[in-house]
Formats: sequence, structure tokens, C-alpha cells
Amino acid sequence: MQLYAFFEGEFVPLEEAKISVMTHGFLYGTGCFEGIRAYWSREEEELFIFRMEEHYRRLERSCRILRMSPGYCLGELMDLTVELLRRCGFKEDCYIRPMVYKKDQVIGVKLTGIADGFVLFAIPFGEYLDLSKGLRAKVSSWVHLGDNSIPMRAKVVGAYVNAALAKSEALDDGYDEAIFLTADGHVSEGSAENLFLVRDGELITPAVTSDILEGVTRETIIVLAREELGLKVCERVVDRTELYVADEAFFVGTGAQVSPIVEIDGRPLGDGAIGPISRQVQELYFRVVKGEVPKYRHWCTPVYGQR
Ligand code: PMP
Repeated sequence: MQLYAFFEGEFVPLEEAKISVMTHGFLYGTGCFEGIRAYWSREEEELFIFRMEEHYRRLERSCRILRMSPGYCLGELMDLTVELLRRCGFKEDCYIRPMVYKKDQVIGVKLTGIADGFVLFAIPFGEYLDLSKGLRAKVSSWVHLGDNSIPMRAKVVGAYVNAALAKSEALDDGYDEAIFLTADGHVSEGSAENLFLVRDGELITPAVTSDILEGVTRETIIVLAREELGLKVCERVVDRTELYVADEAFFVGTGAQVSPIVEIDGRPLGDGAIGPISRQVQELYFRVVKGEVPKYRHWCTPVYGQR
């Protein structure tokens, strides 16, 4: 399969989309990006991009924080993405990565006076976390980045060093995923996922002021839980020990989708098996992303059919 990228204003084979080792974004992590999924529906023989507009709106917010611009308006970004997937001809689930970065080849740490570049590519993609079993998570010894250091509200390239440290620690210690606490010791999110707890039938998730990335999946789950499953959802400050007494918990994210957690720091959640609400949320999510629920069909952009 020939993969393509949109790079320096044109579509090129992915292997030809190359930057210099002196590129500012490579030297200093000065870039922001999105991760978007497209799902292949066998029933409809169609590829659906999930919540593309919301992802590009977040990219625009990241750019505002980092004093950058993608150089294309929202409509153009979405059209380029559809065109890219058509060129690649995907008939399977895939992952789309748009990125805005400081492209000048220059030494010196700042954001202003350096030109911005935009690159977009897509690759076939399966599961990011193992969905066949419940995950075992560990509260990380690494403190999460904060709004006054590298703001998590922006999806900043360099911020993922913090995530990589936590994830590696969790894997080294025999866990599947890390849970970050904020600098003041409250629950924040996973290394690349938002987090929900279930307590007494209610969903609880750290508030947007808890140094989280304002996740598109998080918002999706809040809407689906309230509107379709009739669940109460509370966004608030979450204490560490609430993790240990939760009935259920799950990670959500574009990559993670809905990934149930069965154990945190050696303490089984509920009876230690994947919980019923986690399963319900996961099943509904997978129907929605494939365009199978008419009410939310507007979240799914068809790639090959009429737009
Ligand atoms: N938090 C972090 C740190 C992430 O990297 C991601 C993945 N983009 C998420 C949360 C989930 O966000 P979304 O649902 O928009 O993919």
C-alpha cells in the first residue's frame, strides 16, 4: 500500500516527507498535533473519520497557546484529510496525524519569529491498548505537567516526554498503563488517555482544570453516558484514594478508545473483572464511531461517499 503525506503544501509519498535535523520543532519539541481515528465499516464499505471537526478545533486552540498557525482554515484542514485518506485508499481502521511545528532551521528557544510548518499523514492502525483484557494501572511517580509549565490543554509535542517517562515506568513495573497525579496530588489522566471512575453508578472524571488534555473522547463519553445510558456524570477534582475504592474505571482516548481498568496499584476494582458500566460504554462507543447510531452519525465523516 502506498501511503501519502501532505507536506510543504503538496501530497507526496510518505517516505519523501522529510525534515532537517536542524528543524526547530525537532530540536526543541516546539509543535502541536492531533491524533484522529478513522473506522472502516464493513457493512457500508465506507471509512468514517470520527469527530474530525472537534480534533481540528482543538488543534487551533493548541496553536493559539503556542503562537502558531496551521496556515489552513478548518474547512481546508478537513478537506485535505479526506483527500489524504482517499489517496491512500484505506479499507481498514487508520490513524491520522496532523501536526503544526516550528520549521525554521535555527538554534534558539522561542516561539515568535520562526516559521510554522504543517504536515499530515495517516497509517493503518489497530488497538493502542489491549482491549481483550482489563488493564492494570499504576499511579505514576512522575508528576503531570501543569498549566504553568507545559499546558496540557495544548497537545504539545514536547509534553509527551512526561508521558513516556510515566508509561515506561508503569511497563517496567509490570503494569499496563500509568495514571498521573497533578502537582497538588489530585488525579489527572493516563499517559495518553483521559480517565473515568464509576462510583455508585455515577461516572466521575477529573475536571478540565486538573491538568488534562481536553479529550474529544472524554466529551463523547460524557454525552453518550448522559443521553443514551441515562448516567449521571460529574467532572470534578478527584482524590488519589478514590481510584482505590472505585467500583470500575476506564481510560478513554482516540488511541485507547474505551479501555477498562481492573486493578490500580495492586488493588482490584470491584470484583476485579471488567465492570458492567465499562462494558456498556465500550459497546456503545464502538457502534457510534462506525456510524451505526443515527443520532450521532454527524460525528462520522464518510471518506469515499458524498460528504
Ligand atoms: N490525554 C492525553 C495526554 C492524550 O495524549 C490523549 C490522546 N490524544 C487524550 C488525553 C485523549 O484525547 P482524545 O480523546 O481527544 O484523543
